[in-house]
Amino acid sequence: SNKFGHIQLAPPDPILGTAVAYNKDPHPNKVNLGVGAYRTNEGKPLIFQAVREAERALIEDPAVNHEYLGIDGHEGFVRLARELLLGADSPAIAEHRVASSQGISGTGSLRIGAEFLSVYLHPPCVLISEPTWGNHITIFEKVNVPVKKYPYWKLETRGIDLDGMLAALNEAPAGSVVLLHSCAHNPTGVDPTHEQWERIFEVILARDLLAFFDSAYQGFATGDLEADAWAIRSFISRGGQCLVSQSFAKNAGLYGERIGALHIVCTDSDTTERVLSQLKIVVRAMYSNPPLHGALIMAKILGDPALRENWQNELRGVAHRIIDMRRALYEGLIKLGIAGDWTHITSQIGMFSYTGLTPAQCEVMINKWHCYMLKNGRISMTGINTHNVEYVAAAIKDSLE
Ligand code: PLP
Repeated sequence: SNKFGHIQLAPPDPILGTAVAYNKDPHPNKVNLGVGAYRTNEGKPLIFQAVREAERALIEDPAVNHEYLGIDGHEGFVRLARELLLGADSPAIAEHRVASSQGISGTGSLRIGAEFLSVYLHPPCVLISEPTWGNHITIFEKVNVPVKKYPYWKLETRGIDLDGMLAALNEAPAGSVVLLHSCAHNPTGVDPTHEQWERIFEVILARDLLAFFDSAYQGFATGDLEADAWAIRSFISRGGQCLVSQSFAKNAGLYGERIGALHIVCTDSDTTERVLSQLKIVVRAMYSNPPLHGALIMAKILGDPALRENWQNELRGVAHRIIDMRRALYEGLIKLGIAGDWTHITSQIGMFSYTGLTPAQCEVMINKWHCYMLKNGRISMTGINTHNVEYVAAAIKDSLE
């Protein structure tokens, strides 16, 4: 019998499908606004200088081998990554209140966190922003934690729907998990202000909900690693317990190396030890232990003051190229006399911008102008450069007509 005959064809991933369509299109002016990875002004992938140097040093280092890592990963990497995220002077770290494990980039770290919660906390649901990065939903569905949405995006203001979000948090079942993008919200590019974060934290703490921060873009939003970690650090400084998934895909350009970590901030060191021991059980059965190469690279960069500085400077340049392109796109739209308020293009932050274009307008962008983007109106700012920004502005203006 055909053992697999009943299996239905799965729909293609909308993000990866955009890349395939872009690659197939022979049009000379095509623009990839779907890309979820940084591109230089020449449209090329970037390898950070510090990464190149660290890799060179690793090849020469006689102490480096290809043995297995421990279940929770490379000790030096995990310690340095945690300090980068929470601050070297973090009281939670000093008090040994953070259970940390290397993870398979941001996605894998979210996944082990989700499974840990499902097995040990049995939350009634996880609240996820509407909209969000699609994989958030799938990850929690995979571990049988019911997914609920909280309002986040307000079309009229092309900004945050804070009242809607707070109301949803206030009504969440006791023991719910709340997933938060720590900076550079994907797909909207809209982050809460410090005051808005404080109001969000007040509700989470008052209702004793459990925060799960997704940190996929530290340093990539403002160019400042400290500023982009503000929300997480502020929450912890108020005594909040939380999980944080951390990725080095975007901020170190290590997409394919799958390097990241999961941190679980607890109330005391005794709890932390027990939590880490059980987290390792989750990892052991899933992939036994994480990959080595990215951990060696990041441990080297974070542990070497000169390389670290070089990385931070280049990262600042990356973030600022995106910020510059936001301004250039906005000015391009104004120059064409576009109707309406487009200030959200410059007030949004990080890799993505939620344009507010309707699905039909997105079709015009794609089919007439060869500007590949998601049908929800999300464009990746990294696909925009000084050579194509005017073309993209013209496409957006035309799509409205
Ligand atoms: N979380 C968000 C919000 C993202 O946008 C991404 C990547 O696009 C990730 C997590 C995970 O990325 P990775 O698994 O490559 O670290």
